[in-house]
Amino acid sequence: MSAPEEELREVVALAGQVLTALGLVDYLGHASARIPGTDRVVVKPKHSPAVRSMAALGAADMVVVDLDGSLVDGTARPPAEVFIHTEIYRARPDVSAVVHTHQRSATLAGVLGLPIQPVLHVPATFVPADPPTWPHPVLVDTAELGRDLAATLGGERYCHLQGHGIVSVAADVREATVGAAMLEQLAEAALAGARTGAKPRVITPAEIETLRGQVAGVEGRWAYFCDLARAGGAV
Ligand SMILES: [Zn+2]
Repeated sequence: MSAPEEELREVVALAGQVLTALGLVDYLGHASARIPGTDRVVVKPKHSPAVRSMAALGAADMVVVDLDGSLVDGTARPPAEVFIHTEIYRARPDVSAVVHTHQRSATLAGVLGLPIQPVLHVPATFVPADPPTWPHPVLVDTAELGRDLAATLGGERYCHLQGHGIVSVAADVREATVGAAMLEQLAEAALAGARTGAKPRVITPAEIETLRGQVAGVEGRWAYFCDLARAGGAV
């Protein structure tokens, strides 16, 4: 096993533990990473009676697939929706990490067509505009559906899967995972705001630009989220 693969197995497993600690996934959902310089992807395996909470999965439990979604390393099966990952990697050379969750608030906002707006300062630097919506609740269990989803995602970092969940993509697993958490914070704000009927004060693009110069990168947030996962007994 190459060193990058081993490291990616660790960080993909850790992403699952963080997503669990944050309540963004249950036994469903998955994170993945492209192995640099290859057409191979490290991904969390399909849930089963043996593969349950991501809190209990470590590096050795991860599996490796090719861009056709076929298993090339590991004993467990890849997720049924592996094509979310493989087709986004095919379409987006800039993307090396994909996180798919059924996180509640962002999913509900997508169902309601409620815009997720940049109203909170740190999350606004991750999600400056409402993500596009892929208007299908079905499982993304074919390459064709994966291609269609990737086309809706386009060059963005997030996409609603309406009535289903979200994807968060980035060049790095930590960024994609923290990004999913930031999206959820803004979705919670959108839902809470909608209940009041008041019009939110949206952070402007110029303010977001300033914030990007002020706010630290994901490392600190990632470390904090890892602490939460550890405190919950996940790590
Ligand atoms: Zn799903």
